[in-house]
Amino acid sequence: MYREIYDSGIEERCHAPAIRRLLAQWRSLVDEHGFAPFAPFDPISLGSDADDLIVMVPLDGEDYVYAHYGSAIAANVGMDMTGHQTSEFKGEVGDFFRDINARAVGEGIPILTLHRGAYAVNVHIWERLILPCRDTDGSTIVVVYCKARELRDDLLTTILDASLDGIVAMRLVRGTDGAAIDGQIIAANRRAGRLVGRPIEDMLSGSMRTVFPRLRDSGLWDRYVRVVETREPIEFVADYPADDGSERWFEIAVAPLGDGVLATYADITTRKLAEDAARLNQLEHAAANEALKAEIARRQELEAELSRLATRDPLTGALNRRAITDGLQRAIALAERYGHPVSLFAVDLDQFKRINDQYGHAGGDAVLKAAVDLMTHGLREEVDLFGRLGGEEFIAVLPHTGLTAAAAVAERMRALAAAHDVPFEDGAIRFSASFGVAAWDGRESLDRLLSRADAALYRAKASGRNVVCVDEGEGELLVVRLPGETPIAPADVPAFRPRTRQNSAPRRKSSLGQG
Ligand code: GH3
Ligand code: MG
Ligand code: MG
Repeated sequence: MYREIYDSGIEERCHAPAIRRLLAQWRSLVDEHGFAPFAPFDPISLGSDADDLIVMVPLDGEDYVYAHYGSAIAANVGMDMTGHQTSEFKGEVGDFFRDINARAVGEGIPILTLHRGAYAVNVHIWERLILPCRDTDGSTIVVVYCKARELRDDLLTTILDASLDGIVAMRLVRGTDGAAIDGQIIAANRRAGRLVGRPIEDMLSGSMRTVFPRLRDSGLWDRYVRVVETREPIEFVADYPADDGSERWFEIAVAPLGDGVLATYADITTRKLAEDAARLNQLEHAAANEALKAEIARRQELEAELSRLATRDPLTGALNRRAITDGLQRAIALAERYGHPVSLFAVDLDQFKRINDQYGHAGGDAVLKAAVDLMTHGLREEVDLFGRLGGEEFIAVLPHTGLTAAAAVAERMRALAAAHDVPFEDGAIRFSASFGVAAWDGRESLDRLLSRADAALYRAKASGRNVVCVDEGEGELLVVRLPGETPIAPADVPAFRPRTRQNSAPRRKSSLGQG
């Protein structure tokens, strides 16, 4: 509990003029009689000062009864204690009252105290002068002058002037129908004047509508009136233009004050503009990021397309000549490194010129595409490679695959092709292909491997086409036929001649090997 206790320097410390007067009177009585008689302090003889006076008559022990409890005190405390006892005040405040009374009476001295009231309705600081007096029968009577310290105007002014915010208090001016038509400014600080660019004196004599010409447009007026109606304080951020028309932002708090409001204005223009700029920056950044992402995606697509164009045959989508030979090179390198087998087969469509002749170039193209579709779907995805060397010639590379398995795959492909109808115009085109299979022997060059497959293919053609011919190594070529098909007698098979040599046997243009 806040308290100050003084038994000297009272005149300099007290604020209420009555304290100085009563103290002087008490002192002169003591000088005259050796004690202060009660009669001059009787409320009846004190007149208006009696409103701030307490008279306490001692009971047994330390307790006192309130013989008089001033009306101003009763109003601030919220109850009239007349007839009640000091012991009814409990706790720290009660102890404080009792101790001070005991000391004033015991030492026969006046004491000035300041304390924060615990029971007061309106007052926080009480100023009290305790005067020990004596009644006509010699008994002690304690007289206490007790005044609520008033908030001084200069303190209020100082607070207003020290505030970093503009402060304006206004009372509504109401029309005959009771509607709020304007506001009369009843208090304002210098900061508020500076914010609106007017001297404080102008503001104090002005109405809200003349001091704030944009009050209604800005929506502020409606908010003020709503605060008066609802009695609910509000806080918000709003813009209000400066006199030169420039944008100004304020954080505004509005609280009800009688039939008006008290509003505080903090100028946050700098902060707001900085925040807006930062937000804009962020948005621009995000937009730039998006654009960059889109550009990267576009480039990636472009690169993928370029790489597709660089490695794929445009008509059929099969790997082009360069990509399939690179793939074969890599497959051989891996097979060499890890000791795996690797095989390949060469494919040439049979009598393709005839297909072109019969169905036109478009028909031939349809067959080429269908052949590539069949083969690529029949091979292992991601493992086997299928490429177009040119014209109607292709090769398949089968890593991790030995000769027998490769021959089986080639035979499966041959059967698939031969049984397939290629839809074209209103009908379908049938076609077949010949296959030459070879397995890498673990040493030979890519060119030798290719030329062995090429030779096997040549033998397949010579064997009547639509067959698979397998190079079994050591120059042994085996033509594979489906059961039931009549094998061509060895005598029917034209002798294979390497294409580097000129010969009359089925002429064959090849793009395999070094060709
Ligand atoms: P064989 O059974 O002996 O292989 O006979 P073939 O007619 O298939 O052989 P040849 O090599 O004489 O003919 C191949 C034909 O393929 C010649 C060429 O006009 C045709 N050709 C090459 N590239 C394309 C193409 O992209 N589209 C079409 N429609 N025809 C092509
Ligand atoms: Mg052909
Ligand atoms: Mg050909």
